[in-house]
Amino acid sequence: MSDYDYDLFVIGAGSGGVRAARLTALGGKKVAVAEEFRVGGTCVIRGCVPKKFMVMASEVSHALEIAEGYGWSFDNAKFDWPTFLEAKDVEIARLSGIYAANLGKAGVELVHGRAVLKDAHTVEIVGKNRTITAEKILIATGGRPWKPEDLPGIEHAITSEEAFHLPELPRRILIAGGGYIAVEFAGIFAGLGVETTLIYRGPNILRGFDDDVRAHLAGEIEKRGVKVVLGCQHKSIEKTAAGLVNHLENGMTLETDVVMFATGRIPYVKDLGLEAAGVELNDEGAIKVDPYSKTTADNIWAIGDVTDRMNLTPVAIREAVAFHQTVYRDSPQHFDYEAVATAVFSQPPVGVVGLTEAEARRSCSKGVDVYVTRFRPMKYAFTGSDERVLMKLVVDADSQRVVGVHIVGPDSPEMIQLAAIAVKAGLTKAQWDATCAVHPTMAEELVTLKEKQTPANMAAG
Ligand code: NDP
Repeated sequence: MSDYDYDLFVIGAGSGGVRAARLTALGGKKVAVAEEFRVGGTCVIRGCVPKKFMVMASEVSHALEIAEGYGWSFDNAKFDWPTFLEAKDVEIARLSGIYAANLGKAGVELVHGRAVLKDAHTVEIVGKNRTITAEKILIATGGRPWKPEDLPGIEHAITSEEAFHLPELPRRILIAGGGYIAVEFAGIFAGLGVETTLIYRGPNILRGFDDDVRAHLAGEIEKRGVKVVLGCQHKSIEKTAAGLVNHLENGMTLETDVVMFATGRIPYVKDLGLEAAGVELNDEGAIKVDPYSKTTADNIWAIGDVTDRMNLTPVAIREAVAFHQTVYRDSPQHFDYEAVATAVFSQPPVGVVGLTEAEARRSCSKGVDVYVTRFRPMKYAFTGSDERVLMKLVVDADSQRVVGVHIVGPDSPEMIQLAAIAVKAGLTKAQWDATCAVHPTMAEELVTLKEKQTPANMAAG
């Protein structure tokens, strides 16, 4: 044991911080973790988990429509927002309790309060009159929603944080942004019967995703009732007796009851005392780290969204494991950010792994082969719905490896987890094709795609 109070002090009990703290304590070190809010962090408390519950609540309306096609009828089917909120909050509290209990079982001390760095080895717990020293410190404070504070009337807008606790379901909502959160919440509210408008400044939603995915999803969410307004952003928001009036730069005005900004998240570093500890930020305001997650201070590391590398829960957890292996197991490791699958829980959802077609065209020297299919899922056969699934494989023409898989459609997040194994393993298109189909499924299309996309068959639709 060193002269310090703890071997490791972790700031932030989210997915990354908790994993690092537990592993290190289980390895015999004296560890504490500080959390100013609730154990579980963004993912459990105000992100992935409650969001997915909201998506599941919202998807029921679509399931009921499908069911009617199959002969079911539902008299007076209705949704009660307060009942849902209560059930969600009970479950979130249960999960947060499990996280806290697991910390305890591993021997980690949980410090309730806000930790501020005083120097490279010292933190103060604000308002608790407590100063703690540690040999090593791990910063895992995550991110916070960002909205343009200089926009006139922005004080009337909420972010995803408040969207989880709206006292009542609005009649109309306007969501600004075109990323994960905007698209996911647009689907949630539209599914719950809220008149939903999505406003995005760019030419199409989900910048960075494959262009076919972006175009297909924009069309599909419109079919589910989201009004998508592209190439447009706010000039101001005005509160009137009738609601909130959104003045847009193209001269349009749109009246709504709730305005939600989903315009990105920023690393949560405010007033953390980084300067006092010698921890520097990069140009984007995230904590600067080397591939092993070490900051510019010798005894301080940082993982997860506060480093703004790949802001996904499973990535933060892997960064935590790599930190632990590197620092406490004498086995230097860094996380491999290639071919990390991701899902957008829009309605319909998106699952992708690997390169977009445009990225592959830039990086594959001999070009790419592209396989695309669009079809109506069997489930919708009796509904009259014209919803379509999109599946796309991007193949390196030279090596024949499948370097990108892009799916828009029901269950795509589940499918992409498995497709990611094949992409990560570098399997070729011939190996995908040698895999026998499971029939009748949507996923079987992934191993039965035979026809390469050519200008002629693209034109033929
Ligand atoms: P994103 O970075 O995904 O999207 C932000 C959106 O806001 C973009 O469309 C961006 O436009 C737009 N925007 C930024 N600034 C402005 C502005 N001043 N005015 C108007 N629009 C603006 O952020 P999110 O908040 O949606 O999500 C944050 C991150 O959290 C994600 O990137 C992801 O890593 C993670 N996340 C993951 C989820 C999942 O795995 N399912 C779910 C939710 C979040 P432009 O594209 O033009 O820059």
